[in-house]
Amino acid sequence: MKLQEYQSKRIFAQYGVPIPSGDVASTPAEARAIAERLGKRVVVKSQVLVGGRGKAGGIKLADTPAEAEALAQRILGMEIKGLPVRKVLVDEAASIRDELYLGLVIDRAQRRVVTMGSSEGGVDIEEVAATTPERIIKVSIDPFIGLRDYQARELALGMGLERELIRPLVRIAKSLYNCFISSDASLAEINPLVVTADGSGGYGDPPLLAVDGKMVLDDNGLFRHIDLAEMRDVDEETPEEREARQHGLSYVKLDGSIGCMVNGAGLAMATMDITKLFGGAPANFLDIGGGAKADRVAAALRIILSDSSVKAVLFNIFGGITRCDEVAKGILAALDQVPTDVPMVARLVGTNEEEGRRILASAEMTTASTLAEAAQKAVAAARTVSAA
Ligand code: GDP
Ligand code: MN
Repeated sequence: MKLQEYQSKRIFAQYGVPIPSGDVASTPAEARAIAERLGKRVVVKSQVLVGGRGKAGGIKLADTPAEAEALAQRILGMEIKGLPVRKVLVDEAASIRDELYLGLVIDRAQRRVVTMGSSEGGVDIEEVAATTPERIIKVSIDPFIGLRDYQARELALGMGLERELIRPLVRIAKSLYNCFISSDASLAEINPLVVTADGSGGYGDPPLLAVDGKMVLDDNGLFRHIDLAEMRDVDEETPEEREARQHGLSYVKLDGSIGCMVNGAGLAMATMDITKLFGGAPANFLDIGGGAKADRVAAALRIILSDSSVKAVLFNIFGGITRCDEVAKGILAALDQVPTDVPMVARLVGTNEEEGRRILASAEMTTASTLAEAAQKAVAAARTVSAA
């Protein structure tokens, strides 16, 4: 789950990361009131779950509350990279001397959390990684020991920071690490972490201040963070993503034309691979999970069919705990609710497969006994539909 900037920064602050004073608004009048309360120059920032808002015109400085109101009016009407802006953050503006980058991610190859720092903050960090990778310093963290002072100092020195900034950076890096671990995050990023020019706010001398914040939480850890789970912004989910989450389905929309319904994440990936191998492109990743009952299968099929680029549906069900007859019933139930002429290919093997096939025989559905055969048939069906 991705958090908005204002949410990420509030969480950072709970762990001691210095952030600007400010608040979130959903109307221009609210933005004005916040600016009046702050009584200083402010920055009005669109809250959408994409980066590069600054370049897209979604971040503007305002000298007066009236100006903040006018800018909020304009920004609240914007769409940034296809996402409508529903909220703005009004923060006390920082006067910026330098922009740094500080982030934490999980390096799955190393099986560790890695902290990254760069003196090239503010800009797209992927671009720094591509053009001047030596400007990004990485330190990987032993999960049993955590981030030690000497490692944070190593990071600060590698970033080429001036002496006075080393201690504040160490403190902020450790705060961010504690925040990351305690929240079961998969990403925590401050870009830019600014060196302020006028000594307002922040920590240290010259002070460091987290002007932007980004956090991604591990959905699998949310059950033990009720407060964080409540931060989910349902407006930011597509209807399909919402329905999938409510039914306990793992669904990721992709660009292809073959809808895939599979039980098990590994099998779902194998199904996507083999679809590609035979010249097709999956329209989604979808894992209906173990032991799926008919209603969950029906929800999954509704979600798949709501995507207009789906030209064929491929079912690949391995019946273990999941029973093939339950899946077949779910498919029929969904077809009752969402009549469609999208061709479908089913491969059901394992527990109650014959029963499952018998049920499906009543719907005119192509069946296959191997995954390769199923994938080829689905790819061919999608081509025929596209050509027609
Ligand atoms: P992003 O574009 O979505 O990453 O949004 P950021 O919050 O990182 O803002 C983008 C850029 O706007 C920053 O790198 C700064 O250069 C500038 N900016 C953001 N907040 C302030 C501020 O308070 N004062 C000043 N002067 N510039 C800011
Ligand atoms: Mn940023």
